[in-house]
Amino acid sequence: MEFRDLKQQYQLHKTEIDNAIQNVLTKVNFIQGKQVAALEEVLAEYVGVKHCVTCANGTDALQLALMTWDIGSGDAVFVPDFTFFSSGEVVPLVGATPIFVDIDEDTYNISPQSLEQAIQYVLEKTNLNPRVIVAVDLFGQPADFEQIRKIAARYGLLILEDGAQGFGGRIGTKKACSFGDISTTSFFPAKPLGCYGDGGAVFTENDAWADLIRSYRVHGKGMDKYDNVRIGMNSRLDTIQAAVLLEKIKFFDEEIEKCNQVTEEYTKGLQDVVKVPVVKEGFVSSWAQYTVCFQNNKEREQVIKLLKEQNIPTAVYYRKPMHMQEAFRKYQYRGLEYKVTEKVCERCLSLPMHPYLNTAQIRKVTEHILKSKEVMQ
Ligand SMILES: *Cc1c(COP(=O)(O)O)cnc(C)c1O
Repeated sequence: MEFRDLKQQYQLHKTEIDNAIQNVLTKVNFIQGKQVAALEEVLAEYVGVKHCVTCANGTDALQLALMTWDIGSGDAVFVPDFTFFSSGEVVPLVGATPIFVDIDEDTYNISPQSLEQAIQYVLEKTNLNPRVIVAVDLFGQPADFEQIRKIAARYGLLILEDGAQGFGGRIGTKKACSFGDISTTSFFPAKPLGCYGDGGAVFTENDAWADLIRSYRVHGKGMDKYDNVRIGMNSRLDTIQAAVLLEKIKFFDEEIEKCNQVTEEYTKGLQDVVKVPVVKEGFVSSWAQYTVCFQNNKEREQVIKLLKEQNIPTAVYYRKPMHMQEAFRKYQYRGLEYKVTEKVCERCLSLPMHPYLNTAQIRKVTEHILKSKEVMQ
């Protein structure tokens, strides 16, 4: 059993994908070939926003957004305490200060109440200027953008939606990567829409910001890349990756549909024994991960061991809260609490999750979790 079955996906669509790659090889248009612009158009339309600017990866996409808003020294950027390192890493990269925020226990996404407390804390206890909320669509489910938007309006903050795991998710009919003032995603192979290497994209409705992002991604270009009007980056999406994504977007919705069937089966089998993921009313997850919580760390480690003996792969996303990462040590603030994140980090476990899991495999996973819980009693 694969944790995420990219082999099967490739075998199913091998002809189209091979042809798409071969086409790029024949034309040798490896950098900014026409497939890149074509993909940007397709993705902007898919998400329902005016601009899509592709780039080299999801981390650069976040950095490009912060650079576009001129975020830097003296600025506070609010980031969930439970997420992949990148969501916070980019903040010191541009010279700003990350303020970590506790999460909601059901959705694993940033808690609006904790967010407001953190903003108050920064205003009252620091000299920092609150500027940006990074809202992550963790494990595929969009963050609570209705509440986040209200808080952003109240304090005059910008919203950066980190949709690296959320691409393809929805709230009502609105798609992930349309909720931020700027939104980003990643095409890392294991993400919901993955390419065959690194890749990322930035989305926005704002024409001026889109122009800035296009400049920053190619060495701060003015007229062209030999006319440099600002300090930028080298962060382009390869033509080969764009060609792969143009094929994969064609069956992407079908895959999300299948993931939702898989998770229904998982939840039916597991809801009486572990804390299963909660998708809020009106929300659709793209299921980057199916993450459950056990009663304590001991129980989780025991289950990991027993599943491994059955060749069932699992992963712990994430073991360490962001505020406890060594790299962020100098940003620790007394007075903010991370009770939910600390609890979830001790108990969470992500199970094999992809569109090609069949009923027998799902049953094998759920039955062995049930069995290991019985062994422990
Ligand atoms: C994967 C991920 C990123 C970074 O994407 P890369 O393409 O690997 O740079 C950022 N944020 C979150 C939440 C992610 O899961």
